[in-house]
Amino acid sequence: MVKNVPDTLPTPPRALRLDIDTDALAANWTALNALSGAARAGAAVKADAYGVGARQAVPVLRDAGCRDFFVAHWSEVGAVRGLVPPEWISVLHGPLTEEDAAFARAAGVKPVINSLPQARRWLEAGGGRCDLMVDTGINRLGLPMAALGDETTGRLEVDVLLSHLASADEDVLLNGRQCRRWEEARGAVSHARASLANSAGIALGADYHGDLTRPGIALYGGAPRRELAGTIRQVARPMAAIMQVRDLQAGDSVGYNATFVAEAPMRVGVIALGYADGYLRCWSGKGRMLHGGSVLPVLGRVSMDMTVVDLSGAPELGEGDWIEADYSLPDAATASGLSQYELLTLLADRFAR
Ligand SMILES: *Cc1c(COP(=O)(O)O)cnc(C)c1O
Repeated sequence: MVKNVPDTLPTPPRALRLDIDTDALAANWTALNALSGAARAGAAVKADAYGVGARQAVPVLRDAGCRDFFVAHWSEVGAVRGLVPPEWISVLHGPLTEEDAAFARAAGVKPVINSLPQARRWLEAGGGRCDLMVDTGINRLGLPMAALGDETTGRLEVDVLLSHLASADEDVLLNGRQCRRWEEARGAVSHARASLANSAGIALGADYHGDLTRPGIALYGGAPRRELAGTIRQVARPMAAIMQVRDLQAGDSVGYNATFVAEAPMRVGVIALGYADGYLRCWSGKGRMLHGGSVLPVLGRVSMDMTVVDLSGAPELGEGDWIEADYSLPDAATASGLSQYELLTLLADRFAR
């Protein structure tokens, strides 16, 4: 007989969680809003607020003063709706189908129109307030500059006229070229507000600010340009519980393929964090855990659900104690070779958020 487990049976607490510093998140928005000069800062909250968790992040950003929230997919509207008025939400991918356009009208959220076919689809569905993305050189989504004079474009009720920078994290001529094309677009299409800068673009100065900026990564602790490094605070801290403590003897190896061999007796801990959680194998023999002031190196290979760490630096730690993965984004990106964006969005569902 299979025993019936009621649906309501609570799951015991997880041994893995992502601590979100909501004060740091609010402070980062406030700092980016101030750095945006005369413009107001919005927030990119796509991909579940870059993995931080939209349900938690959006109310914090709202209470800090944010009024413009950008998601990528229509499926992401659900996570943000109910937390802010629908007219504050923009969907970057735009209406790819009639269903998308009908959903935008029913939900009261703004589609970002990215092409003439999307503009026609939106107008045929009944139209209304929308944003318009113009491509000024990234050649990703966006209306080509040549289509700005099209009569369809002229019939749109554009709130935010936006464009997106390809290389704002570098000092290259493309930034200025995109900025000038964006200004040209502002002269060609009637709109209520204009927006160009992502996080890195905010640091490029007033020419790039317009009426609204759209930081993403810097809200969540990333510093895509040096200028932001001193201002932005870490927001997300991966925390894992020690499931088992072991005493190794000299010559004992750790983990798959025995890539670490103890040179002397040592104490190690096994934590519930692995590559299935987004703590990738690139951290093997390289990652660091933190506890108090101590640094606890990762030993051997990271496996799917577990990592082994050296507890020599914190002899007081035992089973059930929590330690923190060293995950300050700018440093973690340098150490791992992953981008600050990947590091955050990798963190998977098994984290309690
Ligand atoms: C993701 C995104 C942003 C935010 O970019 P960051 O580099 O994370 O600040 C802004 N605008 C658009 C259109 C985006 O897709």
